Amino acid sequence: MTTPRLWERPDPALAAAGIEGETVVARVRVLVMALLLIAPIYNLVQDPTLPMYRTGFAVTAAANLIALVIWWYVERRTWQPWIGFASSSFDVTVVSLGLLSFFLVASPLVALNSKVTFEMYFLAILATSLRYDARICIVAGALAVAQYGGMWAAGVQGFDLHDPAYVAEAGPYLPVDLATRLLLLGIATLVAVTIVRRAQRLLYLAARDRLTGVFNRGHFDNALQQVVEVTSRTGQPLALALLDIDHFKSINDQHGHARGDQAIRAVASLLMQSMRRTDLVARYGGEEFVVLMPGTTPEAALLRIEQLRETLVQTPLLLGDGRALTLNYSAGVAGTPGDVFFAASAGLGSVKAPDVLVALADERLLAAKRAGRGRCFGPETQVTEPPARRSSGSRRSDASIQSA
Ligand code: GH3
Ligand code: MG
Ligand code: MG
Repeated sequence: MTTPRLWERPDPALAAAGIEGETVVARVRVLVMALLLIAPIYNLVQDPTLPMYRTGFAVTAAANLIALVIWWYVERRTWQPWIGFASSSFDVTVVSLGLLSFFLVASPLVALNSKVTFEMYFLAILATSLRYDARICIVAGALAVAQYGGMWAAGVQGFDLHDPAYVAEAGPYLPVDLATRLLLLGIATLVAVTIVRRAQRLLYLAARDRLTGVFNRGHFDNALQQVVEVTSRTGQPLALALLDIDHFKSINDQHGHARGDQAIRAVASLLMQSMRRTDLVARYGGEEFVVLMPGTTPEAALLRIEQLRETLVQTPLLLGDGRALTLNYSAGVAGTPGDVFFAASAGLGSVKAPDVLVALADERLLAAKRAGRGRCFGPETQVTEPPARRSSGSRRSDASIQSA
């Protein structure tokens, strides 16, 4: 099991957590910016004619406005993947602009030796971890290093930083200290990236089934909701297959639970190997699996699930003691186009309900079981056999039942 690569868009669950983090940061930013406005307003009231005070007020007011726009944008949920990059770059740049104002108004050394304002870089960098996207941490950290480093280079180029007048105002010019500050910015970035990587790993583990390594039910339920929304919007086909291993209880009974586990893992890995990267394989229950196939019609999905079933039947599971076990499953497939999965919702008319899609697949799975097992039913499949004729008493105890 691996987590996503460093420079990779986070998966939907982390992206959702990132949107919440972005919202928190947007609110805190508005508050901080409002507090930062107090001093410029006070100065402006003292002397409204002084250009320095007017500039200070204008810059802080503009930053406040941008903070409000970001907040409004994020709260309206018109969220875009680039918003985290833009907002964290803004945070870092605001700190640099603060330092730049010292640079221009007081002296370069006041900017470079600044204590409180410089520390705000760390807040901005650590807050990037709330976006749960390592790329955002790296971009913000690199920007802080570039901007502070750039200011240092400009100071060295254009000024004598050892000038006693500067030193009297801002303390000595110590290049080692400034280099250490750049290093600390890099370390803060590393800490932020590490927090994101840990979160990714934990989320990855929380979404997986321990026995098989495929996704678990909880993750599937969340993903189903999102995939139904996306495919409805884009008009893409969508197929869902529910699979249930046939006569599995007798495998446990005859060969023991460890062998049963081995059989569950074998079916899981067959599904994992055979499905596309965009498909989602999850363990739905004990010996039941669900496969979500965006971009696939139910007919094509039925064909794939049936071919896979034949492969499974033709590849007996070696038990290690010389015996082999033939596995089989029954499956129900549902999806669009073909199925209309609307559910009446109180007062809202009809809504596309993922639960209805699962219920349709489950109905067909049940029909496949009743029709004798070892078969797959889709939207068009006629159930020729009356369900009542097959009772649980007619189950064969042999786990190696073949396609009927
Ligand atoms: P059918 O053909 O109708 O599906 O019959 P079945 O025997 O496969 O289904 P049934 O629901 O009667 O039994 C499923 C069994 O799966 C019961 C349960 O003990 C077993 N089971 C559930 N989870 C696990 C697991 O993680 N490992 C093992 N070894 N067995 C499990
Ligand atoms: Mg079952
Ligand atoms: Mg079963």
